Amino acid sequence: MAVNGNEHERTLAFAEIALGQIKALGQPAYPRNYEIWYTYATGYNSALNQNINEALARKGTLSAAEIDQIYDAHLSSTRLTDRIDNVGAKVVDEIDQIMAMIDAASGSAANYGESLASVRQKIGAADRDGLRSIIEGLVGATKEMEKTNHALEARLKASKHEISQLQLNLEAVRNESLTDPLTTLANRKFFDLAMEKALADAAKTDEPLSLLMTDIDHFKKFNDTFGHLTGDQVLRLVAQAVKQNVKGQDVAARYGGEEFAVVLPRTGLQQALTVGDHIRRAVMGKELMKRSTGEHLGRITISVGVAMFRRDDTAQSLIGRADAGLYAAKRNGRNRVICETDPEVAQASMAAA
Ligand code: GH3
Ligand code: MG
Ligand code: MG
Repeated sequence: MAVNGNEHERTLAFAEIALGQIKALGQPAYPRNYEIWYTYATGYNSALNQNINEALARKGTLSAAEIDQIYDAHLSSTRLTDRIDNVGAKVVDEIDQIMAMIDAASGSAANYGESLASVRQKIGAADRDGLRSIIEGLVGATKEMEKTNHALEARLKASKHEISQLQLNLEAVRNESLTDPLTTLANRKFFDLAMEKALADAAKTDEPLSLLMTDIDHFKKFNDTFGHLTGDQVLRLVAQAVKQNVKGQDVAARYGGEEFAVVLPRTGLQQALTVGDHIRRAVMGKELMKRSTGEHLGRITISVGVAMFRRDDTAQSLIGRADAGLYAAKRNGRNRVICETDPEVAQASMAAA
């Protein structure tokens, strides 16, 4: 598919930069070094880039120790799988500790029970002094029990705190796994989930549901002219324009390389067209400038396709109709919004069938 082709080109550009750095600095091409330079090339991790730039500015190279330090500081702890493993291990540990505490508590409750039972036996035959020692014994056992209960309570409180911390961590990991790191919009996985839910809701409530598919115009040429890193900045800018023109209920996602999708629940075709046009105008209105040099890069435009949910739609069929609108917009000169009712789209769909 085209998206994979784009990914191939895009990621290869990062790989080439990474290898170029490794060669220039005469470093071993270990996966760890490669990962550092690849991440550097993407620019996704600004703290890592800053750290490297500072080290390079000081000495012009990176020592093995500095590489280890940069890796530990910026990559090992941010790796999603490592963080999931970490949370998982802590949950297991916390449960083990609570189980041990419960075992200890039930042991001391049993002991206390035994003390009470033995008192019952002894009490009938006891004289005054005997009674006193029985009562002293009882008070001692009760104090012991109280101490155990206190310890248990404190431990449970600590566990409760730890578990709510773990819940937050898990939520952060989950959010991250559903977010596109470059644009911070929802990623494709989140989009797929949101579409399924939106379709089910629309079918149940009979409320309208619309979908926008957008694609940056002539983006390959832009990348070829100004480089992938500048292209990435443009992707962030377009994402921002999308975000600023949708509401809380809507889901804006990076659908693929330079394609964005917006799910618009409770929104009819006409309204969706308006949203699409607002996004298109917002993108067109931005004057692009390379931050490092102040160089003017002109403007960029997007094309948008719009479709509305029909009762027998699947996610795929709805996306297909919005895509048909998008391709019609491209054919008709780009920088426009075309909706599925447009005769041009109907013609193209018939030709495809
Ligand atoms: P059209 O107007 O027909 O959409 O032309 P186009 O050049 O935008 O379309 P094409 O599909 O030929 O190229 C898309 C380009 O998008 C190719 C790839 O270099 C670029 N691209 C995709 N993902 C990324 C990304 O994450 N970063 C950057 N910088 N470029 C990307
Ligand atoms: Mg495209
Ligand atoms: Mg494009």
